[in-house]
Amino acid sequence: MSTIFAYLNGQYLPVEDAKISPMDRGFLFGDGIYEVLPVYDGKIFGLNAHLDRLNLSLKGIRMEPTISHSEWKIIFESLVAKNGMGDQWIYGQVTRGVDPIRNQEIQKIVKPTIFAVSYPKVWPTKAEQSIGLRVTGVKDIRWKYCHIKTIARIAYILMFQEAKDGGFDEGIIMNTSYAFEGTSSNLFIVRHGVIYTPPQSSQLLNGITRDVILSLAEKNKIPHKKTKISERDLLKADEMWITSSGRGVCPVIEYNGIPIGNGKAGPLWARMWDLFENETREFSLSISH
Ligand code: PMP
Repeated sequence: MSTIFAYLNGQYLPVEDAKISPMDRGFLFGDGIYEVLPVYDGKIFGLNAHLDRLNLSLKGIRMEPTISHSEWKIIFESLVAKNGMGDQWIYGQVTRGVDPIRNQEIQKIVKPTIFAVSYPKVWPTKAEQSIGLRVTGVKDIRWKYCHIKTIARIAYILMFQEAKDGGFDEGIIMNTSYAFEGTSSNLFIVRHGVIYTPPQSSQLLNGITRDVILSLAEKNKIPHKKTKISERDLLKADEMWITSSGRGVCPVIEYNGIPIGNGKAGPLWARMWDLFENETREFSLSISH
């Protein structure tokens, strides 16, 4: 594989040469936030939405936005170019920075650590993605600010691993028998032609892909509703999908070993996949920024 370039605190360098201090509060406390952005045909999809959410996450952990949207744009676009254009995914992270003495208290003097890297990505074809995923319910062990995209991912890691160990592809986070989201995705179900997703709250991440799907439903007059989704609703669904920047819109064909609908990717998923593909690829051809 050719060299992958990263950005660290003002410098572009091969990712293996990017070094930070073990006294970084991101390393010591998981004190930081991040974003993952998809790149289609060399163009970043949903850049402003991701950067707006990044700033909200910073605010959520009492940090000021240290880099403007236009500076981020330069960093991300430079990385995409250095890493060969085409389809990629970008990772961007901000931590509260290095504190010479380990100290829980937030010190004003600490300078944030800013890191970004991008990698080539091979998106699955529609046929590949239509195979669908098998998911299971996992008990919610997260903190209470799940709308903040914090790098402290241990709860998600444990819930995902629990799903993996059971032979599943993703865990759906359940709290008092309601489903909120996947361990790295948002949740949608379809019943009688209506798309449902849980409403925005501090119990889930306001996914950028989720917003794109909802706006595509709106634009194309597909009935859709934000509503609480119970485990019973999951089992009665005709279709289930999960969405994320790294996956797009992906069908789920089984919940806890029970087929969803007829156990195959559904017709509304197929339509939404086309709309999404059109949005991401058409966007990349028609809008320069
Ligand atoms: N929820 C969680 C917990 C996630 O980790 C992710 C992926 N970052 C998502 C939802 C999907 O968000 P997005 O569409 O912005 O990638």
